[in-house]
Amino acid sequence: MTKDEIKILAKIEKEKKRVYNKSRKCFHPFCDKTAINSHVLQKNAFISAIADEGHVYEYEHLPFKEQNFHFKKSGINEVFTFKGFCSFHDDFLFRDIEKKEINFYDYKTLLIFAHRILAQEITKKKNVIEFHESLIQKNIGDSQFFKENISGQRLGIQDANYTLKKVLNNIKNPELKEFNFHTREIKQLEICASGPYTFETTREQNEMHPEIYALPLTDIFVNILPTNGNTTVSFCYLNSNNLKCNTYIKSKFQLPEVEFIKFLSDILVAQMENWVISTTLYEKVKEDEKILFNITQQAFNTDDERFEIDYNLFK
Ligand SMILES: [Zn+2]
Repeated sequence: MTKDEIKILAKIEKEKKRVYNKSRKCFHPFCDKTAINSHVLQKNAFISAIADEGHVYEYEHLPFKEQNFHFKKSGINEVFTFKGFCSFHDDFLFRDIEKKEINFYDYKTLLIFAHRILAQEITKKKNVIEFHESLIQKNIGDSQFFKENISGQRLGIQDANYTLKKVLNNIKNPELKEFNFHTREIKQLEICASGPYTFETTREQNEMHPEIYALPLTDIFVNILPTNGNTTVSFCYLNSNNLKCNTYIKSKFQLPEVEFIKFLSDILVAQMENWVISTTLYEKVKEDEKILFNITQQAFNTDDERFEIDYNLFK
């Protein structure tokens, strides 16, 4: 890297910090209060179950480094947080999933998880837009690249808002049953994951009929969480968009446990961002950062995100 390039990267990093650290308004459309650091996951029930002296490992993207896959030690208060809702709405909207016993076989419960995941996703995308807009305005870096990224983020927000509306409708009227869900208990894995991934691969998106392409893509809301000495896995998604998705996910949930766990590993490594692991698992996989980096690179470059992965996080 040249000196000039390093200077530009430093400016970009500084701008990113400035935008991400700004105070935010509550995500609720009719609320003006300041957002607190909302926890996407209840830290006492889930994260602490795999924490060691209050710490877990999260993977961190270092976008401006050559090898950008890196596990970072973080406190349980720092992970899975975002500036989402004010303290009133955070408490009011999510109290049902802050209870001690959570029923992962309950439709409404899974939708409340999906609500929080979507709020976080939309917030993240809005932050990226603001960050890139300020880079363009200040003439830092490759503005064409940032412009393209901004339009991608805007489309993503549109899709997420469509799904969010459905989620909120179904929380109010669970009899609508517009979402499918699958829940399964397996042996405890040293991981907490709660986030979305898109079912349709890039190739499938490119081959879509324009009318279908105009519809939102299928976001799958994934929770992989330690519960009472086991791990509970739940997947939840809109049932109207893609019938193939249901057949595919159903078949995965029927696999023998070892194969099912490998399937989870594939998704986590290649398609999901929001997960943390225990110190025990970190010790097993810390030498694999290079392999994991290569897989994430391959996932980024391929048009078939369901590609064969010769690696298992839970080997
Ligand atoms: Zn609020």
